[in-house]
Formats: sequence, C-alpha cells, structure tokens
Amino acid sequence: MPSVLRPDTKTLFHIDVTWFEKHGRDLRAEMHAALCDTCRALYPTPADARLVDRVDPQTGEVKRVDALWECLMDHCGHQSNFITPATPLTTALFRALLANGNQPMSPEQLHQRVRKSTPMGILRVLMGAQIENGIVPFESA
Ligand SMILES: [Zn+2]
Repeated sequence: MPSVLRPDTKTLFHIDVTWFEKHGRDLRAEMHAALCDTCRALYPTPADARLVDRVDPQTGEVKRVDALWECLMDHCGHQSNFITPATPLTTALFRALLANGNQPMSPEQLHQRVRKSTPMGILRVLMGAQIENGIVPFESA
C-alpha cells in the first residue's frame, strides 16, 4: 500500500471523494452545505446543481464539472464569511480545499488560506488518528 511515510508541512493533501462513499456520507450534500446564501438560492438542493462547462485557467481546457464545485471555486470561496475566525479548523481546511477545486494543498498553503493555527498544527490535525472529512495525503490516493 503506497503511503507518505513522513508527511511534512509541504506534503500535499486533498479530499478523497471515495472516502465519502466508504463512510456513507454524501460529499455533494456537504459541498451544498458550504454554499453561500446566493448560490443556495440558485441550487436549493444538491440535486438542482448540474454539470457545467468550465475552462481550466491553467490549460485552457474545457471540462465538465459539477456546478457545486464551480460555485465554491468562483463565488462562495471568495466570500468573507466562507472561512471566518469562528469556523472550526477542520471545517476551514475542508472548505479551503473545496474552494481550490480540490487541487491538492500543503499544510503551508492551507495555513495561508485559512489563517488559523500553524502549518505544523494543521499537519497534526490532518495526520490525526481520525481522518476529518476525508482529507488525506495526495500521494496515497
Ligand atoms: Zn456563492
């Protein structure tokens, strides 16, 4: 089983979408819960969101993505109340990855995004015995 033996604050982490299936949890419901009020009015339930075309800003490639990802990346993630000082750290880390389109992020990058704890503190949370919200080292996926 491949795994990252000694993850550090530069190790990349992402949300393992299969973790949600394995644990009987619904990632789309949790993404929907992270939407801002404006986007929730557009998509009252997770089932209302459909696939949309999205141009990858790096490659210019057009991909079909879930509209929930697009909302989170392009809108909700930029709202000042998406991650606040009152947001629990584990929720903030999950939301940071949602807003990043689940592109892997290191504890250092996550720290810059969530402005909480420290890169080491974030690493410890992510490597804690209990995997929170399916966030795992990218390399082991
Ligand atoms: Zn929004």
